[in-house]
Amino acid sequence: MKLLGEINCFGQCLRLSEFASFIALLIVVSIAMLAASLMLRNPKQRIMTFVSAQVCVLLAIAATFYVMNCSEMLSIYLYSGYVVVSTIIIFGVLRHYDRILVRRLDARPIAPLMKWTQDFVDRLTSATIYYYDSAVPRAFASGRSIFVSLGLLEVLNEDELKAVLAHEAWHIRSNSRTPYLKQLALMTFSQPKKSELENLADVFAAEIAGSEALSSARDKLDKVFI
Ligand SMILES: [Zn+2]
Repeated sequence: MKLLGEINCFGQCLRLSEFASFIALLIVVSIAMLAASLMLRNPKQRIMTFVSAQVCVLLAIAATFYVMNCSEMLSIYLYSGYVVVSTIIIFGVLRHYDRILVRRLDARPIAPLMKWTQDFVDRLTSATIYYYDSAVPRAFASGRSIFVSLGLLEVLNEDELKAVLAHEAWHIRSNSRTPYLKQLALMTFSQPKKSELENLADVFAAEIAGSEALSSARDKLDKVFI
């Protein structure tokens, strides 16, 4: 009941102030930016939009805090709620980013087509292989999923494909050992520091599939598999 009273009191404070529409605008803008950040392809734009959305929410909370002169407790509840919700969103996006990719790429599980590839990966880690329609030979890992393009399946022979899959399986194994916040940083700013991880993934791939298969896969794909 105390909380309801505070909400009521908060509503009155807000209605009486000239900030109400400003706060509402900030909340609408932050929700729109949050939605946009989930849809953007460019990692830098994605993180910038996400940070801007967070700044808008913080401004809305600061304005609310400033407006409320009768009960300051509700602002603290709102702030705690915001922290909980944004944390869930960050971790949720990280955990389910591969689900977003499946939808975006219109990717399908490879198992019905090439069961041996899924069996091969199952021995290395727990991950689902998806293929998607693109002529560009490309493979990458996200969450607990490995994505390969149709172009990749076309140009590689079985041993080379094993090398690429082992490389991606290593990424998934190392991702599951990386703390969430570091994963988020890697997901958004991974480009410059990547080579070290790539080398480790290649060492693993060479162990599993042989260095010859790995280097001929590398020759065919050059730098397109990540
Ligand atoms: Zn890689």
